[in-house]
Amino acid sequence: MSELRQHAESVHAQFDDHLEVDLEEIEERLETLVSEYKVPPEEARRSLVSSYLSEAGLERDELAGGQTERVSVGSIDEDEQWVDVRVKVVELWEPRSDAIAQVGLLGDESGRIKFVSFATSELEALEEECVYELSNVVTDEYEGQYSIKLNRTTSITELDDDIEVGDDTVEQIGALVDIQRGSGLIKRCPTDDCTRVLQNGRCTEHGEVDGEFDLRIKGVLDDGTAVQEVIFDCEQTETLTDITLDRAKEMAKDALDTSVVIEEMKASTLGRYYQVTGPQFGRYLLVNEFERLGAMDTNDALVRARSI
Ligand SMILES: [Zn+2]
Repeated sequence: MSELRQHAESVHAQFDDHLEVDLEEIEERLETLVSEYKVPPEEARRSLVSSYLSEAGLERDELAGGQTERVSVGSIDEDEQWVDVRVKVVELWEPRSDAIAQVGLLGDESGRIKFVSFATSELEALEEECVYELSNVVTDEYEGQYSIKLNRTTSITELDDDIEVGDDTVEQIGALVDIQRGSGLIKRCPTDDCTRVLQNGRCTEHGEVDGEFDLRIKGVLDDGTAVQEVIFDCEQTETLTDITLDRAKEMAKDALDTSVVIEEMKASTLGRYYQVTGPQFGRYLLVNEFERLGAMDTNDALVRARSI
């Protein structure tokens, strides 16, 4: 490999996660500096790095190659930080695209975090249940959720160690601003381990089935800066709405319509503030505990609506 190509690859690896730069373009720019402006290759590399740093709005010490600090996954609360983690692979998911080599959940004592590695990084594959030291990973944030991205500068060391992975309980305060479809009195597929919610008496997997009644609320909490989707299971929904599953079935039977249940539930919960606690599962917070904090201040809501 030529010296310029080598420099180009290192620059590309450093900015891969920050900018839309391709290897060829980097190599060309280096080429120009070296052959037309007679800049020594190392100097050319440094000057290109500086120009990409300002383009990406980054400081030099935020780039890979510098000294990175080991952090616990639960403490990650900033975007685009280069860090090291010592983690156990909790589960691997099916990647949705060929560009993704692996995607899944990593964990340490402090909690869990999603990770992604890309096919272009050509990294060794992580295995479920194994413990690794991952150096030079980048944090990422999407709608308030943090994840880490492995990249081609990431080093992976398997450790002969076990980690007791902590749970991922989060707490959220907000007004319940929406209750989504599929809430209230629902029917689930009775097939073993299926439990899908039926649509017009049909399971997407098992077709027409005799469903089993259940209660649930899929809602949206708004804390003024962000929204969080939350799910109240049967027990939590009963406590939240004061409507038991039996009562809900009676209501639906009397009205010959299940939608009376959700309408009554909406009337008593929408626009009220709650503090909810539970594990984060993908985009949903599964409510294990909640506290009522009162109704939304109408004035406050108007002020907020105007400021959007
Ligand atoms: Zn089913």
